[in-house]
Amino acid sequence: MDTKRPTIPAAEEILGGYFPVLDHGFVSLVDYMGSDEDVERAARVSYGYGTRKRSATRGLVRYLRRHRHTTPSEMVEFKFHCAMPMFIARQWVRHRTASVNEYSGRYSLMPLLFYRPEAEQFSLQSRANRQGRGDGAPRSVWEQAMERWEGVRSQSADTYEWLLSEDVARELSRIDLPLSTYTQWYWKIDLHNLLHFLSLRCDDHAQWEIREYAGVMAGMVKRVAPLSYEAWVDYDLCGAAMSHGELSALAMLLEPRAEDAVEARPGRGPLDGTALAALGLSKREIVEFREKIRPRERPDFELDLERMRSAESVSAEMERAVPTPE
Ligand SMILES: Cc1cc2nc3c(=O)[nH]c(=O)nc-3n(C[C@H](O)[C@H](O)[C@H](O)COP(=O)(O)OP(=O)(O)OC[C@H]3O[C@@H](n4cnc5c(N)ncnc54)[C@H](O)[C@@H]3O)c2cc1C
Repeated sequence: MDTKRPTIPAAEEILGGYFPVLDHGFVSLVDYMGSDEDVERAARVSYGYGTRKRSATRGLVRYLRRHRHTTPSEMVEFKFHCAMPMFIARQWVRHRTASVNEYSGRYSLMPLLFYRPEAEQFSLQSRANRQGRGDGAPRSVWEQAMERWEGVRSQSADTYEWLLSEDVARELSRIDLPLSTYTQWYWKIDLHNLLHFLSLRCDDHAQWEIREYAGVMAGMVKRVAPLSYEAWVDYDLCGAAMSHGELSALAMLLEPRAEDAVEARPGRGPLDGTALAALGLSKREIVEFREKIRPRERPDFELDLERMRSAESVSAEMERAVPTPE
């Protein structure tokens, strides 16, 4: 049936397709509403589907993003179907501005799929960041970890299946499945809040596993609302907010010139730690300031369409992993 609703060819191409993440997870864009033009229409409160020039839309979308005029981007919606290990779901669900409906382990049998980190992702504790990974762990430690995790998981899966075979309620049978067990949900969010989620979860400070999900979702945003995506990369993901002290440091080194140029202040710099501390920056802030002004590469979240799977094949994999108690 034809629709009067605006559709985006690049989004239609992936709609309902399943993109694998980690070993058993996925993200699928199951529906969307609106695009960059809807951001513009809402901002202008204009009529109908006009034929505005793309460059004008781009200029407005970028202006709105730069100036944090955010409500127009709340007019665009995304609905995802996602599967992730429970420890990732726990981080993800902290984002309160989405609507979530999770697979019910009380009602349904849990697919016995567990996340197994690859050797390349298996790292030692970071010395610099208490909440992060450092150097790679020795291969022998990864191998032993796999063996131990395998033991814990098969015991946990056995107990789950035994409880079900004794007709114990599903809501009790599932209580000792490990945090590595995959769960899934429908997750609906507007563009503004999705970009906030992506800013936090595409960032290096986020756990690698959730970054893998965020990267795929960023690729989906790129297809639905490419101009908003581009503005987000420029102003949020690869941009940075500056404190008064940081801006003062830059102003000591650079000065605005004429109408459209900036030039180095002759004879100024370098600014050492003492000079930066005099501007009120703590040691930690100095480290972060240096990071902020380091040139950043724009990441590319392009989706690999060759990896897209059908809903039927993903569903069959999940069904095969569901226990069949006697
Ligand atoms: C790298 C990283 C490490 C983290 N570590 C921890 C940790 O150790 N422990 C931990 O508990 N959490 C941790 N978190 C979670 C973090 O503190 C936030 O809860 C999470 O990122 C959600 O952010 P948010 O509240 O901005 O997002 P959302 O919930 O999506 O909210 C979006 C925005 O809406 C507004 N908003 C939403 N709800 C409210 C409200 N009730 N009141 C006021 N404003 C609201 C806020 O402006 C908020 O920024 C971590 C997050 C990251 C990214």
